[in-house]
Amino acid sequence: MIDLHIHTTESDGSTPPVRILEQARDAGLEAVAISDHDTLAGYDATAPLAAAAGLDLVCGIELSTRWRSAGDSRGPSVHILAYFLNGAPGAGFRQWLVELQATRHDRNRRLVERLQSLGVAITMEEIRAFGRPLPGRPHFARLLVEKGYVRTIEEAFKRYLGEFARAYVARESPDSAEGIHRVLDAGGTPSLAHPKRLAKMGAAKKAQAIEGMVNAGLRAVEAYHSEHTRQDIETYKALAKRYGLAITGGSDFHGENKPGVVLGMGSIDRIGIPSQVLENLRASLRS
Ligand code: AMP
Ligand code: FE
Ligand code: FE
Ligand code: ZN
Repeated sequence: MIDLHIHTTESDGSTPPVRILEQARDAGLEAVAISDHDTLAGYDATAPLAAAAGLDLVCGIELSTRWRSAGDSRGPSVHILAYFLNGAPGAGFRQWLVELQATRHDRNRRLVERLQSLGVAITMEEIRAFGRPLPGRPHFARLLVEKGYVRTIEEAFKRYLGEFARAYVARESPDSAEGIHRVLDAGGTPSLAHPKRLAKMGAAKKAQAIEGMVNAGLRAVEAYHSEHTRQDIETYKALAKRYGLAITGGSDFHGENKPGVVLGMGSIDRIGIPSQVLENLRASLRS
């Protein structure tokens, strides 16, 4: 079994990268990818340690993009996973990540202001300290829970932080096609993360978006994901086949920041992610 979608304390997970290696080894996983939002820091920290833990560590990342079509300047949020199977990306890609991190910090500043205007007592200093080194909305959610504004992380998203909630502020994010191109240019393999979430777009728009991303160079789709059912896995395997894509799979583990998710488990039905998925992904690069 493997897990190619894991977040650590370098982004919005609650488990430090080194602990991820230990937990993955204890869970009997063969391969893992740390796929933090906008940063390779978790991968960089664990790369020298993975072999000793008996783990095949894949360099990964998750990018926040938007699929913008004509007449739709904001466009739906699309997460693109990238896997660098032939080695970590170079300086150009890493410099672009610094730019992405700046737009995250800017969004966070505006989100604090928005929450304050709604009467929520929260400061940028608190978020900086609590979400170090790269705060995300789950840190905001946990602070809202700690301060007693909501009872759960889920409620924080529903009432304040989610895309359709009252404190939501959009982040300046690249087009999905740009994300895909940047990954390809850096020698990576772009995979559409948790495709089920695109369902909110409606079936016709979703098909259009996926086709557009395939044309932009998308190479894979995340068929196994902790929010997918057994049926979803089959649906996305079939979609991959139709478009000539490989499949990827991961739990989207965030530790305590997303309770109930188990490392290596690729569906609600607790189906383990087979090692064959990574073997096929690597084989797809060679062909
Ligand atoms: P950000 O990248 O800072 O905009 O935060 C996005 C992250 O928030 C996602 O990667 C998830 O980890 C988390 N998230 C988004 N929506 C929800 C939700 N409804 N419930 C719990 N966590 C969520
Ligand atoms: Fe996240
Ligand atoms: Fe995601
Ligand atoms: Zn994720």
